[in-house]
Amino acid sequence: MRRRICVFCGSSPGVDPAHRAAAAELGRRIAEAGWGVVYGGASVGLMGAVADAALAAGGEVIGVIPRELFAAEVPHTGLSELHQVPDMHARKALMYDRADAFAVLPGGLGTLEELFEAATWNQLGLHGRLKPIALLNVGGFYDPLIHLLDHATSAGFVSPHWRATIADAATAAEVLDRLAAG
Ligand code: AMP
Repeated sequence: MRRRICVFCGSSPGVDPAHRAAAAELGRRIAEAGWGVVYGGASVGLMGAVADAALAAGGEVIGVIPRELFAAEVPHTGLSELHQVPDMHARKALMYDRADAFAVLPGGLGTLEELFEAATWNQLGLHGRLKPIALLNVGGFYDPLIHLLDHATSAGFVSPHWRATIADAATAAEVLDRLAAG
């Protein structure tokens, strides 16, 4: 069965060129592995970099974008499938449904929100089956978040079982390994 990876990442490019390079490498590697990309459908920021690289490597890329975000995120016109949905909730529901696993690149509030929603849906059993999550910790971007997750676990608020469903990896290749194993 073809696996699809839902990628959460910034709609901005960020200031460090390494983040854009990591986004492109992740998109390329997902395609080269024969897997599909599911993402927010934008042509801008790291989101656009993931999609462009996956398409250039011959991969399938499925975008899901709410109509209200057309102006801000500019839908990508070269995708395998572009789904226009009424709102954010519909966007996330369709992205989660089409994906087998989640990869998280650097990003802002939207990326963090999606990470935690996907993780809590695992905890609540709402994805139907466990869908593994891996953070691409480019240059230590996610070190403070990893520290907070470990802190919340040792403080007894996150169970070690659910903590273990959020992996982290230093490279795009390692993200694929972690998701393939999950
Ligand atoms: P950001 O990380 O803030 O650049 O956002 C990354 C992506 O998440 C963008 O496509 C945003 O439109 C999207 N996003 C922002 N807020 C939400 C939300 N509450 N639910 C789902 N996606 C969101």
